[in-house]
Amino acid sequence: MKYVSTRGSVPPTDIRTAIEAGIASDGGLYVPESLPKIEKENFKNITELSDVAITLLSPFFGTSAASLCKNTFSFPIPLSKTPRSNDFILELYHGPTGAFKDVGAKFLAGVMSSRPSIVMVATSGDTGGAVAAAFAGQPGFDVVVLYPKGKISTRQESQIAGWGQNVRAVAVEGSFDDCQRLVKESLLKFKSNKPFLSANSINLGRILPQMAYYAHAALSKPGLNFIIPSGNLGNSLACIWAKKMGLPIGEIILAFNANQAVVQYLKTGTYTPTTTVPTLANAMDVGNPSNLERLQNLYPSIDELRRVVRAETVNDDEIRKEIESSEKEWGQVLCPHSAVAAAAKKRFNLSGPTAIVATAHPSKFETIIEPIISREVKIPTELVALMSRSIKNETIKPEYTALEALLKRSIQ
Ligand SMILES: *Cc1c(COP(=O)(O)O)cnc(C)c1O
Repeated sequence: MKYVSTRGSVPPTDIRTAIEAGIASDGGLYVPESLPKIEKENFKNITELSDVAITLLSPFFGTSAASLCKNTFSFPIPLSKTPRSNDFILELYHGPTGAFKDVGAKFLAGVMSSRPSIVMVATSGDTGGAVAAAFAGQPGFDVVVLYPKGKISTRQESQIAGWGQNVRAVAVEGSFDDCQRLVKESLLKFKSNKPFLSANSINLGRILPQMAYYAHAALSKPGLNFIIPSGNLGNSLACIWAKKMGLPIGEIILAFNANQAVVQYLKTGTYTPTTTVPTLANAMDVGNPSNLERLQNLYPSIDELRRVVRAETVNDDEIRKEIESSEKEWGQVLCPHSAVAAAAKKRFNLSGPTAIVATAHPSKFETIIEPIISREVKIPTELVALMSRSIKNETIKPEYTALEALLKRSIQ
């Protein structure tokens, strides 16, 4: 399998080069040259998530798919029942840091295991923790996580800055956009003997493995519809690719918070990026989703795209109401992101089984949820240790020279 740029002016390359480069030299994003077709028969007698993943990902990762998938899919991703017979929850939050980003981060760490690198990532909350957990203690790796100082929750900060060892937690006196800009600048400017890897959500090494949980769920309930909380569109792109490969996936609904550039695009046919609006579902606060370029590459005509996905926007008021009503009506505590999907579902009249995709564990967002449901959200035992550690970080001004000095000082 070869990989090409969405902008078409880079020679086809192999998966390793595509992953290590992050972004193609023409400014585009790498995509598979074509998506292989896979038949239901290929999955005959296969029921385990990790085995579904191996079958699905072998065309992309060859013989290394087996060990990569066994290592990544070591936690359950259940499709759980709700009191409504045709509604399900796809629980993506049982990984080491309680968010779906654990899947991509663990897989990427596996792909890179023989290539000691400086791993950099900017985070608005969840990504940093997942990447830090996946690479912490891996010999030869230096992990640098940049996050906006004072703008993430205490528990999220503990997941990023509680490691010490080879994980440098950098609190930037600025916004998430400043963090992202600093990562980009160091990729271009910082000189080191070690390769630089950007572990952001456009990395193919994070997106491709996400196809596996959609495949696994749909094989157990053919025709299953998915409602996906969406920001940068990495999670939903994986679902769309899996459907295109031939998996029995029904309708795909993209659920957005008040950041609705994609909703407007599908409505009007004209794409206009917006400035980011802060919401209760902050991991989805994206005004200009990077992975839209990959969707447009796959479906250049808006009419085609409209046949593949529909989209809805949900405001903070509706998020609050959904958190309250799902807890009251069926005892399910949803994180604010998952609540966006649950609320969006009500706008559609879907036939057949439908999965609300739950992207994070509610205990990561207790300051939002607990006042709404008037009770404590229990932290799963696996997450307790990770969310209550002392912080080991460094604070810098949002300037490249400050980051450069830190890198020079701390990277062997
Ligand atoms: C990152 C994230 C999202 C958005 O996923 P995208 O792949 O960026 O669309 C949704 N929910 C949670 C909890 C997240 O951490």
